[in-house]
Amino acid sequence: MCENEILNNKNKQNVRCRYCNSLILRKEQGEYLKLQIDLPLMHQKNTTKDVNTIETEELVDFWLVNDMFIFENVGFSNTIGKRKYLICADCDMGPVGYHDIATKKCYLAMQRVQHGNELVKIENALT
Ligand SMILES: [Zn+2]
Repeated sequence: MCENEILNNKNKQNVRCRYCNSLILRKEQGEYLKLQIDLPLMHQKNTTKDVNTIETEELVDFWLVNDMFIFENVGFSNTIGKRKYLICADCDMGPVGYHDIATKKCYLAMQRVQHGNELVKIENALT
Protein backbone atom coordinates (compact mmCIF):
# COMPACT_ATOMS: atom_id res chain seq x y z
CA MET A 1 0.00 0.00 0.00
CA CYS A 2 2.79 2.42 0.84
CA GLU A 3 5.45 1.46 -1.70
CA ASN A 4 4.51 4.09 -4.23
CA GLU A 5 5.10 6.82 -1.65
CA ILE A 6 8.73 5.83 -1.23
CA LEU A 7 11.51 7.17 -3.44
CA ASN A 8 15.14 6.42 -2.55
CA ASN A 9 13.87 5.38 0.86
CA LYS A 10 12.44 8.87 1.45
CA ASN A 11 8.95 10.29 1.29
CA LYS A 12 8.28 11.12 -2.34
CA GLN A 13 5.54 13.63 -1.58
CA ASN A 14 4.69 16.14 1.07
CA VAL A 15 3.06 14.69 4.16
CA ARG A 16 -0.15 16.33 5.31
CA CYS A 17 -2.82 16.01 7.94
CA ARG A 18 -5.63 13.75 6.76
CA TYR A 19 -8.19 15.97 8.42
CA CYS A 20 -7.26 19.59 7.79
CA ASN A 21 -4.62 19.17 5.07
CA SER A 22 -2.01 21.07 7.05
CA LEU A 23 1.56 20.46 5.88
CA ILE A 24 3.37 18.33 8.43
CA LEU A 25 6.55 17.28 6.64
CA ARG A 26 8.06 18.34 3.33
CA LYS A 27 8.97 15.74 0.76
CA GLU A 28 12.22 13.80 1.12
CA GLN A 29 12.60 14.80 4.76
CA GLY A 30 11.53 11.48 6.22
CA GLU A 31 13.23 8.14 5.95
CA TYR A 32 11.16 5.00 5.47
CA LEU A 33 11.31 2.61 8.37
CA LYS A 34 9.51 -0.62 9.05
CA LEU A 35 8.72 -0.96 12.72
CA GLN A 36 6.07 -2.59 14.83
CA ILE A 37 4.71 0.07 17.11
CA ASP A 38 1.46 0.24 18.99
CA LEU A 39 -0.12 3.66 18.83
CA PRO A 40 -3.33 4.74 20.51
CA LEU A 41 -6.23 4.87 18.08
CA MET A 42 -7.13 8.24 16.68
CA HIS A 43 -10.47 9.65 17.84
CA GLN A 44 -10.12 8.73 21.48
CA LYS A 45 -13.66 9.56 22.44
CA ASN A 46 -13.48 8.66 26.05
CA THR A 47 -10.59 10.74 27.28
CA THR A 48 -11.30 9.97 30.89
CA LYS A 49 -9.99 6.48 30.33
CA ASP A 50 -6.94 5.46 32.22
CA VAL A 51 -3.88 5.41 29.92
CA ASN A 52 -3.45 1.71 30.45
CA THR A 53 -6.83 0.96 28.93
CA ILE A 54 -6.47 3.15 25.85
CA GLU A 55 -7.07 1.11 22.74
CA THR A 56 -4.10 0.82 20.44
CA GLU A 57 -3.37 -0.59 17.04
CA GLU A 58 -0.15 -1.90 15.62
CA LEU A 59 1.34 0.18 12.83
CA VAL A 60 4.29 -0.91 10.73
CA ASP A 61 5.14 1.80 8.19
CA PHE A 62 6.82 4.93 9.48
CA TRP A 63 8.71 7.98 8.34
CA LEU A 64 11.71 8.48 10.55
CA VAL A 65 12.45 12.14 11.18
CA ASN A 66 15.76 12.66 12.91
CA ASP A 67 14.97 16.01 14.46
CA MET A 68 11.65 17.53 15.37
CA PHE A 69 12.75 20.85 13.84
CA ILE A 70 12.59 19.20 10.42
CA PHE A 71 8.80 19.19 10.65
CA GLU A 72 6.90 22.02 9.05
CA ASN A 73 4.15 21.78 11.57
CA VAL A 74 3.61 19.39 14.39
CA GLY A 75 2.17 19.49 17.86
CA PHE A 76 2.68 17.40 20.96
CA SER A 77 0.03 15.62 22.88
CA ASN A 78 0.56 13.66 26.07
CA THR A 79 3.66 11.74 27.06
CA ILE A 80 3.34 8.08 27.88
CA GLY A 81 6.47 6.38 29.08
CA LYS A 82 9.30 7.46 26.83
CA ARG A 83 7.04 8.60 24.02
CA LYS A 84 5.61 11.99 23.36
CA TYR A 85 2.75 11.65 20.92
CA LEU A 86 2.66 13.87 17.85
CA ILE A 87 -0.52 15.52 16.72
CA CYS A 88 -1.48 17.92 13.96
CA ALA A 89 -0.50 21.43 15.00
CA ASP A 90 -3.61 22.90 13.40
CA CYS A 91 -6.50 20.59 14.22
CA ASP A 92 -5.02 18.53 17.08
CA MET A 93 -5.92 15.23 15.45
CA GLY A 94 -3.66 12.38 16.38
CA PRO A 95 -1.58 10.76 17.37
CA VAL A 96 0.03 10.72 13.95
CA GLY A 97 3.24 9.38 15.40
CA TYR A 98 5.53 9.83 18.34
CA HIS A 99 8.72 11.44 19.52
CA ASP A 100 11.14 9.17 21.32
CA ILE A 101 12.41 11.18 24.28
CA ALA A 102 15.54 9.06 24.69
CA THR A 103 16.76 9.19 21.08
CA LYS A 104 15.02 12.46 20.10
CA LYS A 105 13.91 10.85 16.86
CA CYS A 106 10.38 11.15 15.57
CA TYR A 107 8.31 8.49 13.93
CA LEU A 108 5.39 9.46 11.74
CA ALA A 109 2.90 6.70 10.95
CA MET A 110 2.25 6.56 7.22
CA GLN A 111 -1.26 5.25 7.74
CA ARG A 112 -2.18 8.23 9.85
CA VAL A 113 -1.23 10.93 7.36
CA GLN A 114 -2.02 12.03 3.84
CA HIS A 115 0.58 12.10 1.08
CA GLY A 116 0.50 14.62 -1.71
CA ASN A 117 -0.17 18.20 -2.52
CA GLU A 118 -2.77 20.46 -1.11
CA LEU A 119 -6.27 19.71 -2.24
CA VAL A 120 -6.66 22.96 -4.10
CA LYS A 121 -9.97 23.61 -5.69
CA ILE A 122 -9.42 24.05 -9.39
CA GLU A 123 -10.69 27.54 -9.83
CA ASN A 124 -8.64 30.38 -11.16
CA ALA A 125 -5.28 29.10 -10.07
CA LEU A 126 -3.62 30.89 -12.95
CA THR A 127 -4.12 34.58 -12.79
ZN1 LIG B 1 -4.89 18.75 10.97
